[in-house]
Order: sequence, then C-alpha cells, then structure tokens
Amino acid sequence: MNAEPRADLLPDGMRMLVVRQPWALMIALGFKTTENRSWTTRHRGPLAIAAGLAWDTAGEHDPRVRAAWRRFAADLARKQQGNADPGPYGVAGQLTQSNLWFDRGAIVSVVDLDDCHRWDCTDHGQGCGDGVACCSPWGDAHANHWTVSNARRLPEPVPVTGRQGLTLLTPTARAQVDEQLARTAEALPAGGK
Ligand SMILES: [Zn+2]
Repeated sequence: MNAEPRADLLPDGMRMLVVRQPWALMIALGFKTTENRSWTTRHRGPLAIAAGLAWDTAGEHDPRVRAAWRRFAADLARKQQGNADPGPYGVAGQLTQSNLWFDRGAIVSVVDLDDCHRWDCTDHGQGCGDGVACCSPWGDAHANHWTVSNARRLPEPVPVTGRQGLTLLTPTARAQVDEQLARTAEALPAGGK
C-alpha cells in the first residue's frame, strides 16, 4: 500500500494504526520508537496502536525484540521482588503468542507520532537505514520511518476491529481510550511521565 487512505479527508485528532504483535507491545512499552511502513503520512500527534489479530513470527525471532523483552522481564522481576503473588501481569513470561501480555484485536497504547521520513533520508546527517542515525536500531532499510514518543500503555486494552491504513477510532473506542489516558495521567506523580 503506497497511498495514505483518506487521511486528508479526516479531521484533526487521534488516528489508529494496526500493528502486529509482538511489535505492538514493544511500542507500548516504549522500547520501539520507530514503526516501519511502506507508506507515509502527514498526520502528527496522538496515534493509537492497535494490536492486530495475527502474530508475527519474524517479530518473535527478531533480535531487537528479544533483547527488549529480556530487559523488560528483568526489570519487572526486580520490581516484583518479595511479592509472593505478582499476578498474571506481574511476570513477563515467555515471548510467545500465548503470553497474556501480547493482547490482540485491541488498542494497547497511545503514542505521539512525531515524524515520518524515508529510511535513506539525510535529514539527520546520514541515512537511517545504515543503523547509525536517529532511528537505530528499530528503523529498517527500504521503509518509511514513523518516529513515535510518549508511549502510554492502556491498562485495559480496548477491543477494536482492525482496518488497513490510518483510521479514526469509533466514538465508543475513543471514549474508552480517553478515559484510560485521563486515569493514567492522574495516577502519575507530578512531573512524572
Ligand atoms: Zn529514520
């Protein structure tokens, strides 16, 4: 897909993008800050990341994903030290499609879409695809790099039906996302991120 579907016809505001697991969780946890797409967008600002239904086996075996998952698992284990019953989300578990952490068919986080550029652009000094510039290590060669920040993982993933391209959320899904974002922001200490 090369064209951005209907994006120019949509009003400003939050958009939704479907990303397969395990990549969607990598974005939600703040590890993956570049999404690779064959197409570009002019949208900037809030972007809801919906985990698709399909599991990406290539992602499961990707060394970047595996390294991030190991870091996450170790960090979570440290936080849960001494907790006799950490609950199902208190342990990371295995990087497999049956793991609860990898919700599917639902919006799992909201990020800010900051930029979109070609992998071989020279805006940042050198092409990103050579692994030395802004999008290293998540930016792939021969893709458009969507750079994101401010990942906010939703405590309760919001079920949605996946659609191709960049879409608006249904009013129901949008209300559920907004409510969770407001609740998460309140729970953070002042100045927290
Ligand atoms: Zn890049």
